[in-house]
Amino acid sequence: MFGKEVTVGGWVQDVRNLGGISFLQLRDSRGVIQITTLKKRSMELFDLVASIPRESVVLVTGEAKQSKEARAGFEVLPSRIDILNKAETPLPLGVVDKVGADLDTRLNNRFMDLRKEEVRATFRIKSITLQGIRGYLSAQGFTEVSTPKIVAAGAEGGSTLFQVRYFDRNAYLAQSPQLYKQNLMATGLDRIFEIAPAFRAEASDTIRHIAEFASLDVELAFINSSEDVMEVAEGIVVNSLNHVREHAKAELKALGVELGEPLTPFPRVKYADAVEMVRSKGMKLEHGEDLGTEGEKLLGDVMMAEKKAELYFITEFPTALKRSTFYAKRRDDDPELTGYFDLDYKGQEIVSGGQREHRYDVLTEQMRENNLSLESFEFYLKAFRYGMPPHGGFGFGVERYVQKMLGLPNIREAVLYPRDRSRLTP
Ligand code: ATP
Repeated sequence: MFGKEVTVGGWVQDVRNLGGISFLQLRDSRGVIQITTLKKRSMELFDLVASIPRESVVLVTGEAKQSKEARAGFEVLPSRIDILNKAETPLPLGVVDKVGADLDTRLNNRFMDLRKEEVRATFRIKSITLQGIRGYLSAQGFTEVSTPKIVAAGAEGGSTLFQVRYFDRNAYLAQSPQLYKQNLMATGLDRIFEIAPAFRAEASDTIRHIAEFASLDVELAFINSSEDVMEVAEGIVVNSLNHVREHAKAELKALGVELGEPLTPFPRVKYADAVEMVRSKGMKLEHGEDLGTEGEKLLGDVMMAEKKAELYFITEFPTALKRSTFYAKRRDDDPELTGYFDLDYKGQEIVSGGQREHRYDVLTEQMRENNLSLESFEFYLKAFRYGMPPHGGFGFGVERYVQKMLGLPNIREAVLYPRDRSRLTP
């Protein structure tokens, strides 16, 4: 390459002018190349370089020359520079500024924010994570499916439903594919998964809730218990972490993240024991109450301190707590408990699931307890009257997973264009 003519395109990150010589830092998707212009070689090019605003897009043609000083190991001595798109000044957001902008400013100018290597690295890793998940599930015989996102009824409670106008009727944006993935269990497509947006009109702004998130949903039939479901959840995490470790080395480095191997099998903590553990840390919590953000965090601290476990299951959730999850199977030996589980990662729930109730009579009774109108769930219920095998599954929040994997302070960092109560653009 050295001594040859090359053409490189990219963004003008910075220009340093030292009188007779100037250095233009040209950034592309792979890194930064130094363009060195000498006044004595071409006054015209030298003046042109001095006039280009930062972040403009240029095409540089010139000789590639080995250089010990340049970061890439070479520099380009230009014979021609074309400005393809001149950036306005001032910039709405600095790309190489030492002082970081606040998240809102960054999200308002996401295209600019993404020019930072470490911000792009998050989304490369998210993509590699999804590749790892798809690869694992496909190898395990799962079929990827797509279910409707415009639906007639919600499955996760009315308070977080987004209503939309659907021709001359009202409809909703799907909170989860729950009813459809269960419906598919009556078909012979025994092991399915879907990776698609889920929509929730979350009432409060938190660092782990957004109004539109990528939900990985898995459902499998002919299971014996929730253990069969947990095995798949654990397999997904272990295998996708391995995949990221192997295929995202540069991106992990850019973010300064070292991905350790999780302790396996993931430890299991019964809900009742989890309550005791967070109480021992001083939190006031009654048996039967949701651990909540604070409880989950405290439990994460205890699991780390005592077991060095970043990933662990919380099992045996009480029926009282999961009552609104009308499709959860209660234990035959103790109906006050479900076989439901959460998978938590560093003190935050990322997965929730378990064995579903597949017996029509019991299911409809549980729906009545929740004051649900059976008529509006007829399409769902029908499948339970004509041969529904035992089955189970889970919902897995992709962004929460990436957030915890990379230690991101806010889930919004793991979404290109997040949606929340106050954000509808960009
Ligand atoms: P939480 O109690 O944390 O609000 P949830 O119990 O409502 O979550 P589920 O309905 O069980 O969550 O959904 C399964 C998974 O989907 C969660 O474990 C989480 O990873 C993800 N998830 C749910 N709601 C959101 C949201 N608003 N934003 C991002 N991810 C979410």
